[in-house]
Amino acid sequence: MTTPADLPAGLPADLPEEMDAFRLLAWGEAPTTVRVPVPRPQGREVLLAVEAAGLCHSDLTLIGAAPGAMGFAVPFTLGHEVVGRVVALGPDADPTLRGTFAVHGVWGCGQCRACRRGEQNSCASITDAIGPGIGRDGGLAEYVLVPSAEHLVPADGVAAVDLAPLTDAGLTTFHALAPHRGRLRGGVAAVVGIGGLGHLALQLLATEGLELLAAVDPRPGARDLATHLGADVVVADVSEVKPAVALALAARGPLPAAEADGSLDLVIDLVGNAATLDAAPDLLVPGGSYVVVGSGGGAARVAKGAPWPRGFSVSAPFWGTHADLVEVVHLASRGVLHAETEQFDLSRVEEAYARLAAGEVHGRAVVIPGR
Ligand SMILES: [Zn+2]
Ligand SMILES: [Zn+2]
Repeated sequence: MTTPADLPAGLPADLPEEMDAFRLLAWGEAPTTVRVPVPRPQGREVLLAVEAAGLCHSDLTLIGAAPGAMGFAVPFTLGHEVVGRVVALGPDADPTLRGTFAVHGVWGCGQCRACRRGEQNSCASITDAIGPGIGRDGGLAEYVLVPSAEHLVPADGVAAVDLAPLTDAGLTTFHALAPHRGRLRGGVAAVVGIGGLGHLALQLLATEGLELLAAVDPRPGARDLATHLGADVVVADVSEVKPAVALALAARGPLPAAEADGSLDLVIDLVGNAATLDAAPDLLVPGGSYVVVGSGGGAARVAKGAPWPRGFSVSAPFWGTHADLVEVVHLASRGVLHAETEQFDLSRVEEAYARLAAGEVHGRAVVIPGR
């Protein structure tokens, strides 16, 4: 019998031939759990036993995609928020690699200009499959194959179930906020959409010394979570955020007239639908920033002049870098960032996705395949 201490020298004797995997088999059809071979690592590949895999709203987009809508082919195993333990290594991998790792899910080419400067999330060569669970086999299985150790970040003592959501929900949020962190002291910010990403955005913003932090979500449970996480102003709709911010600020003392309407320095939009993006120009103070993270199908017309304030910026960041993920894990290990989770066995993954689709998940749904 192979013990964990022996691993991963060569292929462990007890590595099974087959495993359960939750796979998208055809576009437009519901994914399903099937038996597939356990991959054997080649070259520099690393085989991980999946300890936790988070479910993401973008999975629902993949599941609902029409044939041809995505730049990659089926079948593949879903799950792009992955944490796993090294169990086997390809012959060219570092033979000393051991332990539990978060998977950085943008598998860039390593050669293009973006990859060479460490911005794998902007890899120019990724034109189709992005990484595990997005065109390549992902973490909703007992094992996952990673192309090389360059896509791994040590778990640093963070529990797998807590860490999995941080590889996308946490990393995307961290990356979206990164240009703004350190310059928000005394400012006013809002997070729109308090789900898997939003509840982490609130935690990151809570460390920034803001004068006021607002949260927007139509779901009462999400608003309760926002209040619990320290949001000063919590409303159901973007149309309510400025009046509520104005009231809260006025209650604290006299305001310059220009700030009396409750306009914001920063809005993190984790919804990105027509309602939020139509409201965007009117939400900002001069010099304010609007960050679109959600892919809700809305659009904003960007031009200098009204209705936008002077000096505004709009950005639409994508996921995050490997270096960002190292920082996210560090924040988690210090207790600054903690994902609220609901846990499911792999046999209950369909129920987990149904809860996600219905907006019923508290924080992030995480599947524990080995349980
Ligand atoms: Zn995602
Ligand atoms: Zn690249």
